[in-house]
Amino acid sequence: MSEYLLSTRGLTKQFGHHKAVNHVDIHVKRGAIYGFIGRNGAGKTTFLRMISGLAKPTSGEIELFGYRNEELKQVRSRISCLIEAPGLYGNMSAYDNLAIKCQLFGMKNRTYIDNILQTVGLSDVGRKKVKHFSLGMKQRLGIGLALVGEPDLLLLDEPINGLDPQGIAEMRDTILKLRDEQNMTIIISSHILEELSKIATHYGIIHNGNLLQELTREELLERCSERIQIILEKPEQALPVLDRMGFTKYQVIDQNTIHIYERLNESAAVNMELAKAGICVREIGITSEELEQYFLNLTGGGSHA
Ligand code: ATP
Repeated sequence: MSEYLLSTRGLTKQFGHHKAVNHVDIHVKRGAIYGFIGRNGAGKTTFLRMISGLAKPTSGEIELFGYRNEELKQVRSRISCLIEAPGLYGNMSAYDNLAIKCQLFGMKNRTYIDNILQTVGLSDVGRKKVKHFSLGMKQRLGIGLALVGEPDLLLLDEPINGLDPQGIAEMRDTILKLRDEQNMTIIISSHILEELSKIATHYGIIHNGNLLQELTREELLERCSERIQIILEKPEQALPVLDRMGFTKYQVIDQNTIHIYERLNESAAVNMELAKAGICVREIGITSEELEQYFLNLTGGGSHA
């Protein structure tokens, strides 16, 4: 069996001439909390809608739990999603909102509903009318509704959007609990990388419909951590010098930049060795990057859309 619970190959969705999702290859491991990051309009919702079966791909392939193409129908019931605002009955309690969904699934067990309320942190307010709930409470009830039927994969589209810091913290706790206690795999989209950085184990960064990068939490932290930054004309000429000096943890970032993630106190020596090899260094120094800046740089700088 594939090591991935979900993978896609060349997944594309075209609206007219516009490719909202363009040949995306994603890889989501079992038990991951996968942060799907992109600015507004990047294609996150369209992608998640295709995975959940709400939209039909123009081309490409989805593999879920080892099933593909026509077979996907058999496993879609193992996915649940919160895409767009949850449809809630404001004049009813959280408990009754859940009871209606449970009835659709043929379940009448009170303990089952109480357990869901507890999982999403709404036990104390389960009998309150939903119209009196905060946005964060409504979002968590939306997740509660998505939990009915115990899905293996949960898709959450911008569940943090618009929440205050306390709401964000509660949402994070809920998501971690689902992963740890129910072994769920969760894909959670956001336009703010920083907000997912405390919980996500993996990231996929999407921009203009293209998946720019997939990386683990460790890789992201490494890329944003302190490093020696060298600015020069032709980075590839410097690599043999770095190799000779025994560096292994370095990366060519763009056509003028190399980052070295080890032996940070040796920048002067690096500078000297490069000069000896006839390589002209424009700038060398220690830098680090905020997570959000990393994302902005990757997607072309500027502020959020
Ligand atoms: P947001 O967070 O703003 O929802 P997103 O990353 O989820 O952004 P999508 O909603 O997937 O982005 O939209 C991606 C692109 O596809 C946008 O340019 C959007 O206008 C376009 N799009 C989405 N749905 C449709 C549709 N049904 N018909 C035409 N264009 C669409």
